[in-house]
Amino acid sequence: MFTHKTGHEYALKQDETDALKSFRNQFHIPKDTHGNPLIYMTGNSLGLQPKQTKGYVNQELDDWANLGVEGHTTGKTPWLPYHEFLTEAMAKIVGAKPIEIVVMNTLTANLHFMMVSFYQPTKTRYKILIESDAFPSDKYAVESQLRHHGFDDKDGLILWQPRENEELLRYEDLERILEKEGDSIALILIGGVNYYTGQFFDLKRITSLGHQHGCKVGFDCAHAAGNTKLELHDSGADFAAWCSYKYLNSGPGSLAGCFVHERHAHNKDLNRFTGWWSHNKKTRFNMRDEFDQLPGAEGWQLSNPPILSMAAIKASLDLFETVGMEKLIAKSKKLTSYFEFLLNQLGEDTIRIITPTNPDERGCQLSIQVRNADKSLHDKLTEAGIISDWREPDVIRCAPTPFYNSFEDVYLLVEKLKSILNHNQLKA
Ligand SMILES: *Cc1c(COP(=O)(O)O)cnc(C)c1O
Repeated sequence: MFTHKTGHEYALKQDETDALKSFRNQFHIPKDTHGNPLIYMTGNSLGLQPKQTKGYVNQELDDWANLGVEGHTTGKTPWLPYHEFLTEAMAKIVGAKPIEIVVMNTLTANLHFMMVSFYQPTKTRYKILIESDAFPSDKYAVESQLRHHGFDDKDGLILWQPRENEELLRYEDLERILEKEGDSIALILIGGVNYYTGQFFDLKRITSLGHQHGCKVGFDCAHAAGNTKLELHDSGADFAAWCSYKYLNSGPGSLAGCFVHERHAHNKDLNRFTGWWSHNKKTRFNMRDEFDQLPGAEGWQLSNPPILSMAAIKASLDLFETVGMEKLIAKSKKLTSYFEFLLNQLGEDTIRIITPTNPDERGCQLSIQVRNADKSLHDKLTEAGIISDWREPDVIRCAPTPFYNSFEDVYLLVEKLKSILNHNQLKA
């Protein structure tokens, strides 16, 4: 546990002794119109650009310019196996074995492809369980899967809901749903970290509960990858998917990660959609062979992938390799506990943090409910140079990321918040 102090001095001192302080310099920090750096708290929405990304992308543009099609084999980082150069680093970030990992497609697309394989409904077991405040795209995706298989998307969708006057989900309630309806549930799909509350779930616990009741279990790790200690292999989950543009800093709309547990790696009977990139690499270009399934997560690929996007991912993953998740998480815990400490000084009748207080049940994000606030508060924060995220009706989400956010960022953010709230009160 950490003990923190108030005051600007304390924040500066923490930055000075921060083992990762030099990494802030490796990122482009957005600036206001006067050239002052903004306080960027939305790494959970779009991570910042590493300075080395441009070089990685330019390398591929140069190889394309100079080599044309030959770049597939003779480029500096040949395009044919390019995705393989991402696998190991990505596997470390999410706690998986390389055979369980592939970078491909986009997040929601991957969820659909995973459901082609792991949502195999029958007449009696066809329902899908998600968290009630799931990211809208995930909800739309599972509803459309239900309809695609001829089920009613209201009848087929089961929501794991918080209790009245609560925001966080309780495992006892999941247990009760499964006791009662487990036999009718084909798939459980949960966000590893809930995007709204910041609650980080016990993936292993959810998976073993689901498996006990005969359900397949998958996770959307968009808000968990690069943010929390994930152990996807040990969780036993059947599959997971996550985007690379949030905590993984790989650029807007960049390709997504996908995990398929090792126990499915060699199962050729699993239903799936395929393309030439899911075919045996050795004979892929013979073009006339019978389909020969690649083992592991790679066997879910369809197309030859966009190299420019992968170059941006590689630039970022190389930074992750340099630091390692362990150090990032250590700083993250300290930074977020400092943030929590300062917010708590504002008093319970002003703000309430809905994110779990237990550091093992959250990543870096805190979701802050501000009493009597409306969107004008967010607008004022933005005017004051703070980039945060507003969710109706009254929640600000801020994610101080350990890679590029400083203790001073957090200090200044809370000072600005305090002064805006004080000013509002004077006027009221
Ligand atoms: C960010 C996010 C998405 C976005 O999906 P894309 O397919 O990348 O547009 C979906 N689900 C969750 C949980 C997210 O956090």
